[in-house]
Amino acid sequence: MSDCVFCKIINGDFGTEFVYENEYAVAFNDIEPKADTHVLVVPKKHVDSLSELNDEVLLGKLMMTVREVAKKLNLKSYRTVINTGAEVGQTVFHLHIHILAGDIKL
Ligand code: 5GP
Ligand code: ZN
Repeated sequence: MSDCVFCKIINGDFGTEFVYENEYAVAFNDIEPKADTHVLVVPKKHVDSLSELNDEVLLGKLMMTVREVAKKLNLKSYRTVINTGAEVGQTVFHLHIHILAGDIKL
């Protein structure tokens, strides 16, 4: 979507460095990290939230991407978070999975 900040990041509009990228998703550091490591895994295809996702293959690919990012970053322990809906704190309405590790302030 043209007005979506994560679509713009995926499109390279802001020159954001990707920690990891594959066919389905990109991963980049959160701009306001809430932990020593705070990476967002974002599907290349725009989906507003988990509630709008009806592609189980993509869901599986995203979780496998989380594992690949964790492996690349050498994370032994990490927390994954998906905020779905403004009431629980979703602020960017392009599905993303937070990966948090180290000292987590969330
Ligand atoms: P949410 O609250 O929707 O689950 O998470 C959105 C996350 O995206 C927040 O942690 C916020 O700091 C991050 N974020 C928002 N805008 C940008 C941006 O332009 N670049 C990056 N790297 N992260 C962003
Ligand atoms: Zn988007």
